[in-house]
Amino acid sequence: STDRSTLFVTGGAGFIGSAVIRHLLETTDVSIVNIDKLTYASSLDSIPQAGPQSARYGLARTDICDGEALRGLFARYRPQGVIHLAAESHVDRSIDGPQEFIRTNITGTFTLLQEALRHWRALTPQARASFRLLHVSTDEVFGSLGAHGAFTERSPYAPNSPYSASKAASDHLVRAWCETYELPCLISNCSNNYGPYQFPEKLIPHMIIKALAGETLPVYGDGRQVRDWLHVEDHARALYTILRHGRIGETYNVGGRNERTNLDVVEQVCRLLDRLQPSNQGEHRRLISFVADRPGHDRRYAIDASKLERDLGWRAQENFDSGLDKTVRWYLANRAWWQSILTSGYDAERRGLGLAR
Ligand code: NAD
Repeated sequence: STDRSTLFVTGGAGFIGSAVIRHLLETTDVSIVNIDKLTYASSLDSIPQAGPQSARYGLARTDICDGEALRGLFARYRPQGVIHLAAESHVDRSIDGPQEFIRTNITGTFTLLQEALRHWRALTPQARASFRLLHVSTDEVFGSLGAHGAFTERSPYAPNSPYSASKAASDHLVRAWCETYELPCLISNCSNNYGPYQFPEKLIPHMIIKALAGETLPVYGDGRQVRDWLHVEDHARALYTILRHGRIGETYNVGGRNERTNLDVVEQVCRLLDRLQPSNQGEHRRLISFVADRPGHDRRYAIDASKLERDLGWRAQENFDSGLDKTVRWYLANRAWWQSILTSGYDAERRGLGLAR
């Protein structure tokens, strides 16, 4: 059935938000208002379909901590749903400067909840029954796993970084606004994402870009930290599925059963580049160098997404090997996208600093 509703997507100029918007513009009839402050991590070039030619897309350059501005947007567009992705998202930055993480991730989510609640209360009973807010969160709120098992929706919260603590706080606020005020909310907790348009400071693009420049590939600690990788387009599909079909008040874990050590991922990127972009200096893996581990670095994350698979019929479609191959090819074919970010000097001195997330 066609869905002609209007959705707010916060953080839609970021990595995952832009994938959500591309997915919605390509596969649905919904209209989208992208609420984004356009921080260093944003890129409007990530949504090529969303030029002025698209009647179904609009950008509101707005800080989610600005309640008055949000109130104006709710009054003007009267959305039937919100997918909330706006956040500060880079763990290393949260260690160096946690303030902005507290502000955007906690105060921003609080402000959005208050304005969503005000909007929802003013709706007709019928519209109230179909309104939904999906809060997009991370598996990092659950802390670190031992060698076995995986996070489920019942795993206890045990965040270890300022980033994951701020996301955990925002999850709790969303839960409380749903329980206390009955605002119809859902929460999703997803594992590491990868794919096109990921900001150059994150692990995979960082390694691709450094290897292409013949620079050292810094790997934290022994490189044996395990992450569970999901292609960003699988995540985007999962989010729209949860928004439409998820049960209010519930949490859904999202993941692709793709556990890899960081070192395996970096070596695989090197092998792909050896094939696609051979260097006359020899194999790219010679550039790998181990650096001091990140403080509070979680050892292992793994996600059990069986609730989402069983209850809502979602399945990850992209296999990690082919997904990584496509991603490396995308960075090779889209140098202009990331080079313009690098030359804008977003944070040049950090670029030597090693792994992301
Ligand atoms: P990102 O850093 O690429 O994008 C974040 C976007 O939010 C940017 O466009 C930025 O301009 C915007 N933003 C930041 N502060 C804002 C504010 N105060 N007001 C309005 N907009 C603001 O992040 P991402 O990787 O796309 O992650 C999106 C969401 O998904 C985050 O909430 C993150 O916690 C969550 N998440 C990410 C991953 C991952 O692997 N990247 C995994 C699970 C969950």
